[in-house]
Amino acid sequence: MNRLFFLILLFLLTAACSQSDPAAFSAKDLTTKNSAVQAKQDFPANPKITLSAIGDILIHSPIYHDAQTTDGYNFVPMFKNVAPYLKNTTLSIANQETMIGGTGFGLSGYPAFNSPKEVGDALKASGIDIVSIANNHTLDRGGKAIQQAISHWNAIDVLYTGAFKSEEDKEKLRVIRTAEGIDVAFLSYTYGTNGIPVPENKDYLVNLINEQTIKTEVKQANQAADAVVVSMHFGEEYQRMPNDYQKELAQMISDAGAHVILGHHPHVLQPMEKLQGKKGNQTLVIYSLGNFLSAQEETYRRIGGILQVELEKDRLDGSISVNNPAFIPTIVDYTPFANQHAGTDFKILPMHTSLQEEVIPEQKKVFEDIKNHMSQWLPELRFPSP
Ligand SMILES: [Zn+2]
Repeated sequence: MNRLFFLILLFLLTAACSQSDPAAFSAKDLTTKNSAVQAKQDFPANPKITLSAIGDILIHSPIYHDAQTTDGYNFVPMFKNVAPYLKNTTLSIANQETMIGGTGFGLSGYPAFNSPKEVGDALKASGIDIVSIANNHTLDRGGKAIQQAISHWNAIDVLYTGAFKSEEDKEKLRVIRTAEGIDVAFLSYTYGTNGIPVPENKDYLVNLINEQTIKTEVKQANQAADAVVVSMHFGEEYQRMPNDYQKELAQMISDAGAHVILGHHPHVLQPMEKLQGKKGNQTLVIYSLGNFLSAQEETYRRIGGILQVELEKDRLDGSISVNNPAFIPTIVDYTPFANQHAGTDFKILPMHTSLQEEVIPEQKKVFEDIKNHMSQWLPELRFPSP
């Protein structure tokens, strides 16, 4: 009897170890391995889902010129090499930094962006389920561009949060109910709108950071869903480390009960860490996801990544744990100054699969640097091996 118990224990331990074996990392392993472990257990396992998140989709004019076809725009090829990682998780979220108001308004790049609607089509085709659209460029081209963008997100059935078409629309909390039985709520806020005032009586056009509002909304989201994911457009541009204000806000959001905090705006990667909320909840925060697609040229501004994390719901008390964080560093590849548009052939590549091509000088060294940078406060963070 004792020996049998020991064997079962040994089996469970082996199963647990192989599940988190960092050497075995690949995007697919996240889901396939866990379901294998679940099948072997003779008691019902906790439901689990996976979430992936990407940073700034910043459509500078060279990018939409590059995507132009005879009858529109096609951004799908730019995402071809990274789409499998986004499709592989249960849910995927992107920071759509530029409004996809479409050609009716006239497209524009920096500093007041308006992007083709086809950007949304490409994100959808690449596996994105929801976009965060509260950021400093939300009001760049006014309320009409926001309304056009929102009607396209609705048309292609991609959820959006952080900017809304009406007060009534804003009141509807975005919750995705997964087949696994875990409901996930998504919230999004920005520090500001580049000095453009929010039109009077139209606060619904963009969610600004207000600590009391965030606290209240995170708590409401916690009542309505199992897990709460908060997108925060904050921090200082081009700084590789978070400032004190980002850290304070993250702790406040954790204390309010959120499970994942996705930072963006600095255009470069900032590290991740696990926070402990006042209620005993765990919160995984990434202070900045960096640029995912942009025409910025400096090395660190070309590097972003895909965060993947597992959310597990305790069958008995309903609490959520945030497990097995993984990060897949990516780089924007393009041919600079190939024509008057300062770049062509834009594509996003996973860094670990493009080390031989050397998209940037000494890419192997930079890849190691990025891994150390992202995991400095989270040693358990996993990366794909080349
Ligand atoms: Zn920004």
